[in-house]
Amino acid sequence: AANFEGKVVVVTGGASGIGAAICEVFQEAGAKVWCADLELADGKGWESRVCDVSDETQVTAFFEEVFAEEGRLDVVVNNAGIQPLGVSIAETTPELMNKTLEVNVSGALWGVKQAAARMTAGGSVVNLASFVGTLGVPDGMAYAVSKAGVAHLTKCAALELAGKGIRVNAVAPGTIRTPAVEGIPDNPEIPFVEGRTPLGRLGEPEEVARVVLFLASEAASYITGAIVPVDGGISAG
Ligand code: NAD
Repeated sequence: AANFEGKVVVVTGGASGIGAAICEVFQEAGAKVWCADLELADGKGWESRVCDVSDETQVTAFFEEVFAEEGRLDVVVNNAGIQPLGVSIAETTPELMNKTLEVNVSGALWGVKQAAARMTAGGSVVNLASFVGTLGVPDGMAYAVSKAGVAHLTKCAALELAGKGIRVNAVAPGTIRTPAVEGIPDNPEIPFVEGRTPLGRLGEPEEVARVVLFLASEAASYITGAIVPVDGGISAG
């Protein structure tokens, strides 16, 4: 099992869903976990601060506090995101487009920027992309484009930071059972995705979190710039 004793791990969006599962697996692996979210995470032992990842000033202040407190930074997981689905092209406003890019793409960029500034060799970043960043999706243009952006940002950052010994990877989940997905009453996406997914079911948050943990760990020491599908096979065909 991965051992993160003595390591400091930042997880954005850790108050809910996949992010909460990520906080949990790192905590179980012995890491000191710091969560940055619009909401305070109801503490299962990790530190939690209110921080809007789309605002670079807030992100910088958050990482300054983490670094002042811990004196090191080992892993950044850029997980915070919004998922505007069920929005047609006609319904897509400049506000929705800008907000989606600011939270999902710029938010990840500010996390990467802090990692670049504060990590030493051996550090690692994991971003949350999505299968819709590769496959097209109707009624989700802003979201899908933002996740394609996250995947590409991952590759660019991997190249730029490789010389410092910092690895940058992403996971591309399929549809995962989280409040964002289950919160929509009778969400038509659920039976649709179950029908299309080769493994025949939605994923669970822990199934994504375990892969994030692996990518951040020494076991993945030769992996950088990878976008790893965690999608029950939906992207395979
Ligand atoms: P969720 O809505 O359950 O949790 C997202 C968390 O991010 C929330 O706690 C929210 O408060 C926080 N957040 C939102 N905007 C923020 C901001 N500006 N600053 C700080 N925190 C902010 O979502 P989830 O389903 O757990 O998704 C987590 C990540 O995984 C997202 O990036 C999402 O796009 C991605 N993803 C999810 C799925 C899925 O099916 N659930 C699939 C593919 C990718």
